[in-house]
Amino acid sequence: MNLWFAHRAAEKLKKLKNKTRCHRCGLYYEKHLRACSHCSALDDLQLDAIIRKRRSFRTKLGIGMFIGAVVFFGLILLGAIGLR
Ligand SMILES: [Zn+2]
Repeated sequence: MNLWFAHRAAEKLKKLKNKTRCHRCGLYYEKHLRACSHCSALDDLQLDAIIRKRRSFRTKLGIGMFIGAVVFFGLILLGAIGLR
């Protein structure tokens, strides 16, 4: 199992070595490209809208994960209390 994770980490590192991070959008693109494939065709307003959308999605995902964790541990607690 650990070997599999090490292999995956090495693969990711290898992929990242061929990529560079865009200073505009923060995503990675191939080094051989002159401009970012994600945002070079977008103007500043469009890029700002996409970045806001991404941020909003991450926030909602974080809140959802937190609520899921609270419900999960609440159910475990209820199960532990119910066993007594
Ligand atoms: Zn970009």
